[in-house]
Amino acid sequence: MNKTLDDVNVAGQRVLLRADLNVPLRDGKVTDATRLERLLPTIRELSDKGAKVIVLSHFDRPEGKVVPELSLKPIADSLGRILGKPVAFAASCVGPEAENAVASLNNGDVLVLENTRFHAGEEKNDPAFAAALAKLGDIFVNDAFSAAHRAHASTEGVARHMPSFAGRLMQAELHALEKALGNPQRPVAAIVAGSKVSTKLELLNNLVTKVDILVIGGAMANTFLAAQGHNVGRSLQEADLHGTALEIIKTAAAKGCEIFLPLDVVVAEKFEADAPTHVVKIDAIPPGAMALDVGPATVDAFISRLPEIKTIIWNGPLGAFETKPFDASTNTLAQAIAQATKDGKVISVGGGGDTVSALKLAGVHHDLTYLSSAGGAFLEWMEGKVLPGVEVLSKGFSNLG
Ligand code: ADP
Ligand code: MG
Repeated sequence: MNKTLDDVNVAGQRVLLRADLNVPLRDGKVTDATRLERLLPTIRELSDKGAKVIVLSHFDRPEGKVVPELSLKPIADSLGRILGKPVAFAASCVGPEAENAVASLNNGDVLVLENTRFHAGEEKNDPAFAAALAKLGDIFVNDAFSAAHRAHASTEGVARHMPSFAGRLMQAELHALEKALGNPQRPVAAIVAGSKVSTKLELLNNLVTKVDILVIGGAMANTFLAAQGHNVGRSLQEADLHGTALEIIKTAAAKGCEIFLPLDVVVAEKFEADAPTHVVKIDAIPPGAMALDVGPATVDAFISRLPEIKTIIWNGPLGAFETKPFDASTNTLAQAIAQATKDGKVISVGGGGDTVSALKLAGVHHDLTYLSSAGGAFLEWMEGKVLPGVEVLSKGFSNLG
């Protein structure tokens, strides 16, 4: 297990805190502060305990060059407002500017350093750049689970230089993932949907070996249905992956994982808002139609299974949820899972960029046991991969070399 803030005395220490300040920004204003809000417990705890809090983060993709529009300054200001106390800013994350800003901190102060990706050494995990970062702190705390799938200087390299700990957000994320898939209460059902099998191949392959029921929805279900010989009309599907889909079904059978495919789908001739729709059984998709959502009988059938399920993992919207009415099944299922969670009957963990948007639109994003704010890192963890930024925390810093 990783060490946490319970294992260290931070009073008077310079704490390098890797955070994920990569929030949506429009005209210099933060449009969704969820990621900042989730950091508050760690920042407040460190500050209250008398640490000098030095926040490191990337922002967007400046590709190793200084791009003024991608400065973290407006985000540091926004963080200060949410935190309710001044947040200092240094216009570079290494060198004299950063060192002077750190030197002028009092215990409890918070400082944000400029975008780590303004330096090419960040994404290359350059040891010299990691050492320059490490010079600024006494201990390292990583609260950026969402960046932990990348071995960059500020997520991995720097941790080799000093005692390193998981922050509260990182800790919560790892705890939730462990409850969902590492050591879950069974039976476990995974809902995997979205647009493409190809982007979720490793996810499907890992989950069939670990979960008891795998529900496949979204356009990726079309690929499975077509592979089984159903005519899916003009639906989005990947014809070159039929063999792969059949293999996944075979592996699932061998591992005792039940594959739950749609029984019916919502079809339309046109993919546009409020297009006329029909519900058809999967063996009756008209040749000119597109399946844009799973059907109500499918959702009902899965909801009727909820009482037997103890843990649910959800990645991927069941339909083309951005366009009404193809959000209907996602909404119905989201509400049923939220209710079962509130009733204490199931542990539910969701994640993925579009999944989070869809669950927000369904109004249930506060009602799951845990909704991961990490996209890629959540998926890689679910794929069974080791995340370098997590791995390095448990290895400790004796492996400097
Ligand atoms: P996440 O970002 O949560 O991992 P994905 O990116 O895999 O999810 O999938 C989300 C996308 O899948 C959405 O843009 C949604 O419109 C699309 N999608 C889901 N079902 C269908 C469908 N039947 N036809 C076309 N697109 C679909
Ligand atoms: Mg997506």
